[in-house]
Amino acid sequence: MLKFQNFVPVRVEFGAGKLETVGNHAKAYGKKALIVTTGPFFKESGLVGRVEDYLKKAGVKSEVFLDASPNPRSDEADKGAEFAKSTGCDIVIGLGGGSAIDTAKCIAVGVAQGEPTWPYWIGEKSIIAALPIIAISTTSGTGSHITPYSVITNPATNEKPGAGADVMFPKVGIVDSELMATVPQKVTAATGFDVLAHAIEAYTSNNATPFSDQYAQEAIKLVGKYLRRVVDNGSDAEARDAMALADTYGGYAISIAVVSMCHVVAQATGGVCNTVHGESLAALTPSAMRHSISGRPEKYKRIGELLTGKELSSPEASVEVVSELIKDIGMAIPLSKQGVKESDFNEIIDGSFRYMASGLDLDPVPVTKEDIRKILQESF
Ligand code: NAD
Repeated sequence: MLKFQNFVPVRVEFGAGKLETVGNHAKAYGKKALIVTTGPFFKESGLVGRVEDYLKKAGVKSEVFLDASPNPRSDEADKGAEFAKSTGCDIVIGLGGGSAIDTAKCIAVGVAQGEPTWPYWIGEKSIIAALPIIAISTTSGTGSHITPYSVITNPATNEKPGAGADVMFPKVGIVDSELMATVPQKVTAATGFDVLAHAIEAYTSNNATPFSDQYAQEAIKLVGKYLRRVVDNGSDAEARDAMALADTYGGYAISIAVVSMCHVVAQATGGVCNTVHGESLAALTPSAMRHSISGRPEKYKRIGELLTGKELSSPEASVEVVSELIKDIGMAIPLSKQGVKESDFNEIIDGSFRYMASGLDLDPVPVTKEDIRKILQESF
């Protein structure tokens, strides 16, 4: 008997040129916006200026916060929340990849909850309030323009948890693939692999529903058709559009079905070693798939079939298809080449179980500490 719930309340503005809708949407939710982004590129490229202009035309004032790092940090978000409060901002706009959007979400919570954000991310307190959020995604990607999640690192504790709450769904997610033409090749590959990892983990998650399955399958098909193409040629507008759509489908899939063991371990690794999220996922995914195949063999077989458009002989053949893709997009970078040391394994394993065990529970096969050690070793 089918029994499930879906809740993904985000207005999506999808398509080339959609950036210009930001002013009118912001006007519906506030009078002064904080634009949150990652560092100099967005300012120097004129993108921040364009957003400021669209807001101004709609009668919305704005301030800019440029201090979100890739792998954004709780102290940065707290600084951003103080700035938003002191300047009277009542809406937060994330402009960038997952790092900018996740920081915007954390700032929105920090302002509305009125205190430092870390206890909310590490699960000591429940998030019940946030300023309205608009997400403008410039990578494809983390799906963060659709999801209610925000992943934040605390460098003092080496922890990188994801928090999620209904109030953190963006009111509007703007996906304008024209903004993605400038994404460097390596970032295109890493973020594109993140899309596939979301789709694989949501599709095989214990929380999967018929809706999340549809989104995940479409995302996998699009990645199979377009990820190599966009990595080869970042100016291929059709491929950028297709990957932006795949990213958006992936965002829906994980909003419903969440992610599982591979993301848990990749985030714990990022917390300890400050790795690039998509690169860690690419290193870990083949071994993580092998661990989990026996829990949902038909779905694992289907993953490779959706990627290639061909029938496969076994679920294990899907692991080969995914490994081939990882190689072709230049993401075959073992953890040892990403700054991870074997002596970090214990801390990564401990973090996976200490603050992200709920994600491990969604894996189709139970996960032990020794399983994670084996996956880390195989990905090393
Ligand atoms: P990112 O946001 O860290 O961006 C990577 C780099 O690319 C940055 O230096 C950024 O300035 C640059 N960049 C982004 N867009 C650009 C553009 N259009 N042109 C030129 N440069 C551009 O990368 P990401 O992979 O999008 O986000 C990673 C973060 O998102 C990680 O912390 C990860 O854990 C998190 N994440 C969040 C979710 C979620 O649901 N909230 C899901 C998956 C991952």
